[in-house]
Amino acid sequence: MTKLASPATELTRFEPHARQVRLESMHWRADNLVSCWFTGAELHDFVSPAGGDHIKLQVPNASGELVAAQTDPETGRITNRAELGLRDMTPRAIDRDDQRLRIDIVAHAGGVVGQWLNRAQPGDECAIMGPRGSRQVVEPLDRVIAVVDAAALPAAERRLDDFQLPGELHLLGIRDVAALDLPEGVELFEHELKRADDWGAVAAEVVARIPADERVLIWGAGEAHGVAQLRGRAGELAREGLFGQFNGYWQVGVAEYDHHADLPTPTN
Ligand SMILES: Cc1cc2nc3c(=O)[nH]c(=O)nc-3n(C[C@H](O)[C@H](O)[C@H](O)COP(=O)(O)OP(=O)(O)OC[C@H]3O[C@@H](n4cnc5c(N)ncnc54)[C@H](O)[C@@H]3O)c2cc1C
Repeated sequence: MTKLASPATELTRFEPHARQVRLESMHWRADNLVSCWFTGAELHDFVSPAGGDHIKLQVPNASGELVAAQTDPETGRITNRAELGLRDMTPRAIDRDDQRLRIDIVAHAGGVVGQWLNRAQPGDECAIMGPRGSRQVVEPLDRVIAVVDAAALPAAERRLDDFQLPGELHLLGIRDVAALDLPEGVELFEHELKRADDWGAVAAEVVARIPADERVLIWGAGEAHGVAQLRGRAGELAREGLFGQFNGYWQVGVAEYDHHADLPTPTN
């Protein structure tokens, strides 16, 4: 399989840091996406310079407790990871003056975060960790094409804002999002998905629209099989000046998907 070149990036690292926060409020942006504002004095020095940054959000368990990590004294590894309720999230908006942080979370049927959302109340104690690093794209580009599902919409809004370039936002499996925040020159396309993990038809459509004579970044993020299909399709167009970034954010049937793992082999 041919892969597109990755754009040049610069990485800034930060000391990992846990912060206690409290849920302040929840506002629905779409049927399956809820904006959660968190507040806490420890947010006074929270930074997230780039749109692709992520943090770990820890939510309380069914008894309302934030479970403490236990480590193996010999290896230093966490031994109760599954009980911690830790998941990757994008800091969608930061209000450092008022020590507030917004995370837009997909409400779906399963998962520790989804279960917490069903019972969440203002005042719930949560924690965040990170970001551990922040990667800025420094490649000169003419256009950015983002292809994302609901989990990566918060990152897409931030990244497109960072770039301030003409482009396209292809939203998969989510529509009628309130307060969608896109820079001028970015066109919105909403696509139905029959299955969350089948991006085949959309991938073909998106890739066919890529201009042949511009420096373009195509970025796909969301369900891992779907992203792999997009990467496969885009790879067929490999040429100088066409760059790709492809990030699995979650995978159908997998709890706490490891986004550092290789993408699965595309099925079609
Ligand atoms: C860099 C990065 C940034 C991310 N930013 C965000 C963000 O800002 N907002 C956000 O909501 N998510 C974001 N995600 C995705 C999020 O971490 C995963 O979706 C995570 O699995 C959610 O945890 P959970 O407890 O809901 O489900 P899990 O306990 O991990 O999984 C339980 C079940 O739910 C399914 N599932 C998991 N996620 C979804 C989903 N999105 N839609 C449908 N079914 C799902 C799984 O396939 C599994 O069967 C990000 C991921 C990464 C890697």
